[in-house]
Amino acid sequence: MSVEDHKLPVFTTAADMRAWVRKQKKSGRKVALVPTMGYLHEGHLSLVKAAKEKADVVVASIYVNPTQFAAHEDFDVYPRNPADDRVKLAAAGCHAVFEPESLYVAVPPSGGGDGGESSNVVGRESNHPDSHETFVTVERLQRPLCGGSRPHFFRGVCTVVTKLFHICEPDVAVFGRKDYQQWRVICRMVRDLDFPIEVVGLPICREPDGLAMSSRNARLSAESRDRALSISRGLRWAEQAVAEGAVTRPDEVAAHVREMIEGAGGKVDYVELLHAHNLGPVNDLTSQPVLLAVAAHFPARDRGTVRLIDNTVLNEIGNTQQGRGEQEEGQQQDQQE
Ligand code: AMP
Repeated sequence: MSVEDHKLPVFTTAADMRAWVRKQKKSGRKVALVPTMGYLHEGHLSLVKAAKEKADVVVASIYVNPTQFAAHEDFDVYPRNPADDRVKLAAAGCHAVFEPESLYVAVPPSGGGDGGESSNVVGRESNHPDSHETFVTVERLQRPLCGGSRPHFFRGVCTVVTKLFHICEPDVAVFGRKDYQQWRVICRMVRDLDFPIEVVGLPICREPDGLAMSSRNARLSAESRDRALSISRGLRWAEQAVAEGAVTRPDEVAAHVREMIEGAGGKVDYVELLHAHNLGPVNDLTSQPVLLAVAAHFPARDRGTVRLIDNTVLNEIGNTQQGRGEQEEGQQQDQQE
């Protein structure tokens, strides 16, 4: 553990982190966990602030989880600034940071070189027979949307979140609905595997011009950033068109939003409308809340592209800004299923 200027305890081993949490719990304190990959922005900090209302102490984890990235993805260039993150977390009232170096046992291959197979998609970890090999999957919910184009993604997410849950033993875990499918998948995992944890999903924080905040926005060029606004404009168009009854079919909505993004130069990964709770298919926009989810690539300032995701819930009873009440309803639905 190291205590820096900001006085925020930073734990780098599972044992130290767990010992600290257990001490808090022994003193009768309720613990909340906010898992992140760092390079924090106001969206992350909104989760910390909400977590403080749900618990006595808040732990934020910062870990760029290798197992949720495929070999061709942006693990190596994912933005990182842990020193700055700690200052921001302290200012937001966080109580401790978990910053492990690695959460996976990776035994290096014998005889030096990696032999071509040792560095695999399971997070650049070794393929040595004594290395990490246990993974958690949520079979159906992980398939659509991001699961289609990133087949390793939710397996990596569920595995690392399971590990974080076991290490931090939180009473409450707070996620953002920016990663809507991730939130649904984690709710399902918690229900199905009997984690004694309340999962909270919070609304998307946006820049004043509508762009959903994301650590990856830092990799956009100024021009790409402008073009990327087509995503939130598409979502706002859909909200209005559906509310006014101007479009009634999911495929019409998807086609128009896709056109808006492609017209701005984005390369669409998916634009899909699914049941907002179970992510199953929908045929109409009036009988249930419908998730409109988008993923699209825009050129990066350095090399390659930046993949951005965003979403909104159409036909949501009450408030489209997705207050916490609805999340808890979602959670209850999960528990009842
Ligand atoms: P990440 O560091 O991108 O893995 O995100 C960590 C957590 O912050 C996840 O639960 C995200 O859904 C959440 N998050 C990221 N961006 C936003 C945002 N713009 N608004 C609200 N939550 C967010």
